[in-house]
Amino acid sequence: MSINVRGYAAHSSTSPLGLFGFVRRDPRPDDVVIDILYCGVCHSDIHHARNDWGGATYPLVPGHEIVGRVTQVGTNVSRFKAGDLVGVGCLVDSCQRCRACGRGLEQYCESGKTLTYDDVDPHDGMPTYGGYSERIVVTEKFVLKMPDGLDAAAAAPLLCAGITSWSPLRHWNVGPGSSVAVVGLGGLGHMALKLAKALGAEVTLFTRSPGKEADARRLGADHIVLSTEEAQMAGVANRFDLIIDTVPYVHDINPYVPTLATGGTLVLVGYLGPLEPMLNSAPLVMNRKAVAGSLIGGIAETQEMLDFCGQHSIVCDVEVIRIQDINEAFERMLRSDVKYRFVIELASLKGWV
Ligand code: NAP
Ligand code: ZN
Repeated sequence: MSINVRGYAAHSSTSPLGLFGFVRRDPRPDDVVIDILYCGVCHSDIHHARNDWGGATYPLVPGHEIVGRVTQVGTNVSRFKAGDLVGVGCLVDSCQRCRACGRGLEQYCESGKTLTYDDVDPHDGMPTYGGYSERIVVTEKFVLKMPDGLDAAAAAPLLCAGITSWSPLRHWNVGPGSSVAVVGLGGLGHMALKLAKALGAEVTLFTRSPGKEADARRLGADHIVLSTEEAQMAGVANRFDLIIDTVPYVHDINPYVPTLATGGTLVLVGYLGPLEPMLNSAPLVMNRKAVAGSLIGGIAETQEMLDFCGQHSIVCDVEVIRIQDINEAFERMLRSDVKYRFVIELASLKGWV
């Protein structure tokens, strides 16, 4: 028996999101059926809905920061039962056979991972639809346990903003004695500040927005640098072991390279595409500096991050909205007017026609 679900979808790259009825698959023996309570609003949802990266398929139901309650489990499911509070992030499947999957790096699956939305389920050829909806069906392996004691709405963005910040912090071994900088104070940026601080690093925020200084300090920044001020940029020369750049659109990364310490790495997590202006390799070569990229995180690493947040009482700063307000939320995100993540309460969808 397939599951009828209501959600909010983009019907084209230019139309606002609106109500959309669709069908989730019949649960398979390894599936978990989840009633969605909250779903965070990631800037990637805007990129997908507006086809910024090409290849979007409509209707498109965004949402990959999902927290909900299990209502039903398949006969082969052993880790979850009805009533459990669980999370689903950006991935709902991967091949489980390639080298990347074997190393717990499902996000880099060599056969092609299955994204939570705007993708196709290789088992049945059906489109995947995300968390701006009442219910989701996900194979057990890609379902996360939510730690006790965290507010469910505020924890939802950990499933993408949290893990996307955590993975580079862990990969580049950030800890006490590390000097970390974050570019852009939005959803990812505010979690990168909190997590880097909790790992023991000295933390700096690069921002274009002078008004964000007090918030940045409260979120964990020891120092704030206005990236538009050359003197302030020069004041942090040779400083950072790791820079996490969350800016969603093309921007000049050359001015950040001199702020890396010798051997330091600037990791891009926001913008996807050709760099402009071009990257000058000379300062990289001369000081063994690197520019890298990083995509979300694997399932085990996501559980590690959630458990860390549970132990350290770390959640996101959120503004909870009704799904009917999602189009205004997108516009506000584009104006950098969000503190610091919108989260949709899916109860707003129930009984609404
Ligand atoms: P967000 O909440 O909109 O925050 C982005 C921040 O970047 C803004 O608050 C602003 O900070 C700064 N910014 C925005 N436009 C800018 C511009 N034109 N030039 C310079 N700075 C700008 O977005 P988010 O949800 O954190 O997502 C950030 C990016 O990461 C998006 O592109 C998203 O698709 C991507 N993403 C990647 C992954 C991954 O796995 N790699 C995962 C999730 C999201 P200030 O006001 O402080 O300057
Ligand atoms: Zn995301």
